[in-house]
Amino acid sequence: MKVEPPGPEAQKIMDRDKRFMATTNKVMPVVAKRGKGMYVEDVDGNVYLDFQSGIAVNNLGHCPPTVVKAAQQQLETLIHFPGILLSQNMEGRLAEELNEIVPGNFTKKTYFSCTGCNAIDTAIKVARWSTGRPRNIAFHGAFHGKSIGALALTASRTNYRKGFMPEMPGVLHVPYAYCYRCPYKMEYPSCDVYCAKFIDEEILSKFIPPEEVAALFVEPIQGEGGYIVPPKQWHKEIRKMTEKYGILEVADEVQSGIARTGKWFAIEHFDVVPDIVCIAKGIASGLPMSACVFNEKYDIKQPGAHATTFAGNPVTTAAALATLKTIKDEKLLDNATKMGEYLMKREYEIKDKYEIVGDVRGIGLMTAVEIVKDKKSKKMDMDTRNKIVNGCLKKGLLILFCGPSSIRIIPAVNCHKEHIDKAMEIFEEEVKKVQAECKAACGTV
Ligand code: PMP
Repeated sequence: MKVEPPGPEAQKIMDRDKRFMATTNKVMPVVAKRGKGMYVEDVDGNVYLDFQSGIAVNNLGHCPPTVVKAAQQQLETLIHFPGILLSQNMEGRLAEELNEIVPGNFTKKTYFSCTGCNAIDTAIKVARWSTGRPRNIAFHGAFHGKSIGALALTASRTNYRKGFMPEMPGVLHVPYAYCYRCPYKMEYPSCDVYCAKFIDEEILSKFIPPEEVAALFVEPIQGEGGYIVPPKQWHKEIRKMTEKYGILEVADEVQSGIARTGKWFAIEHFDVVPDIVCIAKGIASGLPMSACVFNEKYDIKQPGAHATTFAGNPVTTAAALATLKTIKDEKLLDNATKMGEYLMKREYEIKDKYEIVGDVRGIGLMTAVEIVKDKKSKKMDMDTRNKIVNGCLKKGLLILFCGPSSIRIIPAVNCHKEHIDKAMEIFEEEVKKVQAECKAACGTV
């Protein structure tokens, strides 16, 4: 690190942005100039080790050469051809690839769009059209996006909804399987996944007619809500219930998909085959692309009923095809599994040593630690969490908040041990320092 961020150049840019850009939530003082692999350089010459991966977008690191080359070639060949009315030879190729990698032993069809919430909005429409039912179910803590459709499903912060009523009607939220903080104060496995059974026994039997529910939206691992990994039994129970009532299960793989967990999609870890899968973020290594992939029997057979201008854009599609090919060619599912085990081993060691690290969660390289006042009380500690994240940033390590008091640690799926060693060295140093400061200030830990 050359200067403490924000350096003078960064400050100038941040001031301009503040003046001319609509209010955002840019909470970290990093202004990037360029990125390569696991590293990002800012406009003042600081170099950061990136364990944020652009919020699970840069799954192959920054500017992966195979993707850059494919996008460059496509830029010189054909940039746009209106997929709403005409065809080009890219989007169908990608849809065919997705048919292969998305779980389910049946033919799948795809609507492309540009960002995660577009894929979620598409899933809302596909489920509504094909079932003819008006309601949806989602989970407490869920994040599905901020468009007016997806927002009705999102339930991770009141700030996202405040001032935006009326919202899409008919969405019911139920507790997720957050075992570290069980909403029912039970313990797994003796609870026998009561939180899943509750939906059938209490909600769909006494409150909401199941025959009116089009879809249940579920993040296989809850992302923005805190990187919460449910028990396999929970997912299986949820699937049993959705099948029983003909409710379409939508797996929101926007954050957890595209090799992040060591499989193409996180839902595969739970042996569940959903009806609809929403994909975005990592699919095109940073170019804006999303996909809603579903069992062909739910196709909206009404030409023109659903489409967007940039859907299946040739350049983003070329980037996506190159991303998928690179994951296969470089065996990155295996690497994410191996590196994920190595990273989580280090996270568990840190948890064992420090009172303020309450929980470690994750699969593959979708990992997080939860920061608490102390292990016994499990009291959430957002301030301490923020201090650790900001302290790491000043030392050149980018990690990211999630949930009220957790930290995402999500390097690219082609990372190596040396990256993890360096990141965990900085992270541990910071946890140690912040814990000592807490102890000195209030004597609690
Ligand atoms: N679903 C999930 C699980 C997400 O994590 C996100 C973004 N963080 C979205 C949907 C929305 O994606 P986007 O911001 O691209 O609209």
